[in-house]
Amino acid sequence: MPSGKLKKSAALYASARKILVGGVNSPVRSFGAVGGRPLFVSKARGAFVYDADGNRYTDYMGSWGALILGHAHPAVVRSVSSAARAGTSYGVSCEAEINLAKTLTRQFASIEKIRMTNSGTEALMSAVRLARAFTGRDLLVKFDGCYHGHADHLLIKAGSGATTFGHPSSAGVPRSFTSKTLAAAYNGTASVKKLFARNGGKIAAVVIEPVAGNMGVVPPAPGFLEFLRKITSRHGSLLIFDEVITGMRFAGGAQGRFRVRPDITCLGKVIGGGLPVGAYGARSEIMDMVSPAGPVYQAGTLSGNPLAVAAGSETIKGIGGRRGLARLDALTKRLCDCIVRAARAKGVPVTINRAGSMFTVFFSPNPVTDYVSALECDTEMFGAFHSAMLERGFLLPPSQFEAAFVSAAHTERDIDRTAKAVADALEDCI
Ligand code: PLP
Repeated sequence: MPSGKLKKSAALYASARKILVGGVNSPVRSFGAVGGRPLFVSKARGAFVYDADGNRYTDYMGSWGALILGHAHPAVVRSVSSAARAGTSYGVSCEAEINLAKTLTRQFASIEKIRMTNSGTEALMSAVRLARAFTGRDLLVKFDGCYHGHADHLLIKAGSGATTFGHPSSAGVPRSFTSKTLAAAYNGTASVKKLFARNGGKIAAVVIEPVAGNMGVVPPAPGFLEFLRKITSRHGSLLIFDEVITGMRFAGGAQGRFRVRPDITCLGKVIGGGLPVGAYGARSEIMDMVSPAGPVYQAGTLSGNPLAVAAGSETIKGIGGRRGLARLDALTKRLCDCIVRAARAKGVPVTINRAGSMFTVFFSPNPVTDYVSALECDTEMFGAFHSAMLERGFLLPPSQFEAAFVSAAHTERDIDRTAKAVADALEDCI
């Protein structure tokens, strides 16, 4: 991207660096993995974001997957405005919370009761506490390359920014915390079997992104989720699906798509329509252990916030059920097919992983099925590709280890324009 085109973004970044840590409020926004020249956005609408210099980008980040309807969807904006006029937070309950909870329990066969939180991180942190209380056990199994928010015990070989910035575990996490978390290979049946063979009666839960999005998109191998269901049930452990990304991108979530019923489900992103949100839910027997019904304490000043639940309910309505999701699936397939053709024509080895409306273009000639194969990708090539796309007005997530998203605001025309830009951008990179 010629620096002149990002003059105001560069000036804002310089100011931000003096006062915000690293110039950002979340690490991946620094664009550190793709050249370190972050955008400052001034507005966004539909499939487009506009930066402070007035450049327009077709957006495939969708606020990290939260904006399945695109930016500033009129019905969502109306519902948030109307909720705000009635008060932005009450500190006591309101009917809109029940409405969203009903919508969510209808969507997920495994959820009878639900608790709203303010972020996906909180949902995961609380779900793990609940699983430990329910089973009376301490150990947790997570998968290399999966990101479940930044709670201490979940920052073990985590994906997303933790991979992008090259510190798979964080400083400041006591070893005694991480010793309770066991890491297995995604899609690695043997590694899970080994952990259960050694620790079977001590494992409270296995937590997984049922379609991984935080090492780039990596779908589960056929039978892998079923295997996890069986082995956890056999050993009296709970299975936690982190559907913070996937929850609303498949009918009935990834658990609906793959027909595997977890014990606890964590949600976020889309269910808040772009406002801060998270939730965890399960059958009543498990959820009734949460305070005030039970002994597991978890709370939040702004949990079930009226603006967030209004935006979430309106967003879920706007998806349009199976038909809406089928359209997203078809658009994303069209884009991915075009990228594969363009890469082949230019002789650039790429592997595209796609599940519904989430996808990643991996710069690797080999299948990407787990964290190890994701890390083998050519991240320099990805950086060059990202910059070449940005220059042409297309915004992809700024790391090889993230999912890109198509939203309902994208049109076939947008997809075809993107496909053409990909072909040109690849030409620049070789
Ligand atoms: N789980 C998954 C799968 C995520 O992708 C994320 C965030 O990207 C989280 C949990 C954490 O959510 P939040 O950023 O809302 O805390």
